[in-house]
Amino acid sequence: MSLAEITTRIRAAETAAGRPPGSTALIAVSKVQPLERVEAVLEQGHRCFGENRVQEAAGKWPALRDRFGTVDLHLLGPLQTNKARQAFGLFQAIHSLDRPKLAETLARLAQETGRCPGLFVQVNTGLEPQKAGVLPADVDGFVADCTARDLPLLGLMCIAPEADDAAPHFAMLSDMAARNGLPGLSMGMSGDFETAIAHGATHVRVGSAIFGARVPG
Ligand SMILES: *Cc1c(COP(=O)(O)O)cnc(C)c1O
Repeated sequence: MSLAEITTRIRAAETAAGRPPGSTALIAVSKVQPLERVEAVLEQGHRCFGENRVQEAAGKWPALRDRFGTVDLHLLGPLQTNKARQAFGLFQAIHSLDRPKLAETLARLAQETGRCPGLFVQVNTGLEPQKAGVLPADVDGFVADCTARDLPLLGLMCIAPEADDAAPHFAMLSDMAARNGLPGLSMGMSGDFETAIAHGATHVRVGSAIFGARVPG
């Protein structure tokens, strides 16, 4: 599929949900993709991308930014505290804030540097043992802790379990964000972004549907 086709499907889903066109940000997830596929999407004018690993992003995006100008970059994968400083220098947003220790580190860096990427709290809506994220029962307390630290919370993020219908997970995330007064909802991937938009996603994270299957490496 192409970037244009995905954009068309996003617009249609927004309209079907009675939402204004353009109310969903499309994060093109470029992790592990060959450089020429990423360049092709940049050449079409897209400037919002997602990566899973700090190291991979650091190896790729400084040169691409030199060539293509300002790019909005989102970190989607787990962040180790010892990579947080590097992440501060690369990303406009971090979607994987998932534990008090990381909140503490980010708050310290924000104090020190006077700035901070926008933050999404990752929620493990499916209670999956192998998956990162704050458990639903702990979300309100964790959000309060982050707010007390003056962290710039944009919203909540989840990855729906592969085997499940995604809709109840997106509905749960939307409820949790609303009751915490958070406007952002980072949810929906290649297989379920239209469902996510129906449930109010403000950021969809679409990789393989734009770039093609990831080449395993
Ligand atoms: C890889 C990844 C995506 C994109 O997945 P696709 O199924 O290729 O669209 C979205 N979100 C996160 C957190 C990811 O790791």
